[in-house]
Amino acid sequence: MENFSVGWEEWLSLPELGLPALKAKTDTGARTSAIHAFAIQPFGSDKKPYVRFGVHPVPDNTDIEVYCSAPVVGQREVTSSNGQTELRYVIKTPITIGERTWDIEITLTNRENMAYRMLLGRSALDELAVKPAESFLQPELSYDLYNKITNKKPVKRPLRIAILTREPRNYSTKRFVEEAELNGHAVELIDTKRCYLNIQSYNPEVHYDGRALPPYDAVIPRIGASLTFYGMAIVRQFEAMGTFCLNSASSIGASRDKLAAHQILARHRIPMPTTAFANSPKDTNSLLDLVGGSPTVLKLLQSTQGRGVVLAETKKAGEAVISAFQGLDAHFIAQEFVKEAAGSDIRCFVVGKRVVGAMMRTAGDDDFRSNLHAGGTAKKVRLTKEERNIAIKAARVLGLIVAGVDIIRTDTGSKVLEVNSSPGIEGIEKASGKNIAEKIIQLIEANVPSTIHPKRHRR
Ligand code: ADP
Repeated sequence: MENFSVGWEEWLSLPELGLPALKAKTDTGARTSAIHAFAIQPFGSDKKPYVRFGVHPVPDNTDIEVYCSAPVVGQREVTSSNGQTELRYVIKTPITIGERTWDIEITLTNRENMAYRMLLGRSALDELAVKPAESFLQPELSYDLYNKITNKKPVKRPLRIAILTREPRNYSTKRFVEEAELNGHAVELIDTKRCYLNIQSYNPEVHYDGRALPPYDAVIPRIGASLTFYGMAIVRQFEAMGTFCLNSASSIGASRDKLAAHQILARHRIPMPTTAFANSPKDTNSLLDLVGGSPTVLKLLQSTQGRGVVLAETKKAGEAVISAFQGLDAHFIAQEFVKEAAGSDIRCFVVGKRVVGAMMRTAGDDDFRSNLHAGGTAKKVRLTKEERNIAIKAARVLGLIVAGVDIIRTDTGSKVLEVNSSPGIEGIEKASGKNIAEKIIQLIEANVPSTIHPKRHRR
């Protein structure tokens, strides 16, 4: 790079770290370049080590924080100008000065007293002419660039993602890990039931196996119905730590309470089969009349995978089932039976503001329930525009970012049966042929900003 000279101070950018403008000092006394970072945290595995760190690029405005992460290429003992020796992480990343871009190694240090956020060492300057008596020989940049960063298109960087699950080996978990790693991220599997909380602390923490969990970039909650209460508490705590959670605790709660979910959907004018709820045995007759008489579908509110869903063919059968449910103090809803659906419903998989896959599930012989767990079969289906809109809206009004919305086709239009906050992806990936796990990872990437600008940041 002859004819390219730099002075003793220069503006530069580190595009892959999301740092569009830094003022650096050249330091030919040092071999490797260094950046002043905070919250330096290693993650990943021995085979694929990463490091995450924060940078305050603007020296007199620490409100602007940029979170960076990069693969670790090594660790190095560095003796700084004040004689202190420190073991530092080394990363490799492209640097741009003026019109030139090349790869350099940078060590991370959190010495408070570094006047420049970055020092350019000999190895970065190898082929350049350094003119120590001059400064800013290359075009100057401005810290204003940080004000122009929007969170719409975050820098692609390795993310530290946790999956909260009790089933580390199931299909969905394995696919999330696979897609995350393919996209350069690191995933940790956390057993929801083994998390415990420090709520009192001003610095909210989730503990696990005797230690506080690190701040993740994102958490994927996979909370089974039997663990709703505990799982919500854990997710809520991650939210308090500022972690992006794919589905908030409150949205998981809203969808798990089937009755409340029906009420919210109805309030937002989302079409549903006629549904009724009662408590007293005195009202059984009126309840059955409300939903159009027999046959009637009766659903235990705790039901999942179709297990508490009964079709009462006659009024007598309906009364008997209701009386049994009431005898057990179990809450249930009564619903008009959609005969014309002929044992089929449609699972719409919503990720963000889009339906990313859909399948039609059809019940096995002599069942009206299409759940795959209950022996149903699945095939690809084309949704109507209206069905897409209903699915997206149902997820949105419950506050869910990722949702499985079940729709049933009736003579009076498509209607929502239920909304699931931890939908599995095996059935839908196989039936629709779509890469659902990748869509979810992409949604996470789009939602974890690297630049925190307090005046504009939502959290
Ligand atoms: P779960 O949450 O236990 O899966 P659902 O409400 O989704 O309960 O019902 C299970 C299955 O029963 C549905 O997938 C659908 O095939 C069938 N089903 C549910 N409600 C009705 C209804 N009102 N009319 C016809 N079939 C229904």
